[in-house]
Amino acid sequence: MVISGPFAVSQSRPDTIGYSRWAPAARLKGLLETLQAHDVSLLVDTRLQPCSSQLKGRYGPKDWTLQSGAAGLAHHLGRIGVEYLWLSELGNPQRHDPDMAVLRAHLEDGGMRWPVNRGLELLRGRIEGDDVVCLLCTCRDAATCHRTVIGEAVRARYFGERLDVRSLT
Ligand SMILES: [Zn+2]
Repeated sequence: MVISGPFAVSQSRPDTIGYSRWAPAARLKGLLETLQAHDVSLLVDTRLQPCSSQLKGRYGPKDWTLQSGAAGLAHHLGRIGVEYLWLSELGNPQRHDPDMAVLRAHLEDGGMRWPVNRGLELLRGRIEGDDVVCLLCTCRDAATCHRTVIGEAVRARYFGERLDVRSLT
């Protein structure tokens, strides 16, 4: 998903993107080229855990995981002038629940004790700026990914019809 600004314009749009759309060998190239094609200037990482699950081997660091130094997704985005922002507050607190019941309950509650509501405030601030914003998650299908729930929530809570959410993948 990508969210673009500035938002004085009525036809602004937010977009989302899921990198599993591309096979591993083509993943980084496909992701970067798609972001560039849509003039994205800020990629907001909504993964709860953007780092690799292991330090080495099959589940070790990849180009699309968060790493330190000159490696990983933040580094590669920097090479093409796209800002990287990890909003850990926007991660899905229960990723083994296809209905996203916990996440939806926190959104409905609206209270700041729940991370997603703090994350939406932060996201709103960036959408109101001059950035073209895209929300990143792993999932191939935007329709079943929490990033779409997040995008729709920020739209409904702060922007209404001034914001439009769409998937780039
Ligand atoms: Zn997802």
